[in-house]
Amino acid sequence: MHDILWNVALVIVIAGSGAVFTQIYCKSAYFTCAACKSLNAKRRSACRKCGAPLEKR
Ligand SMILES: [Zn+2]
Repeated sequence: MHDILWNVALVIVIAGSGAVFTQIYCKSAYFTCAACKSLNAKRRSACRKCGAPLEKR
């Protein structure tokens, strides 16, 4: 019984860390446009949606 609970806890931890990793990856690979809040790839210098220049952070 304790083994099952431990496995469930482990799956939750792995799923949670996966979500955190995805968030970190998204933040490092994309810029959020300050004007329209859409995600743009880091190599872009201007927003694909509104054309506003993207700030390099
Ligand atoms: Zn924009």
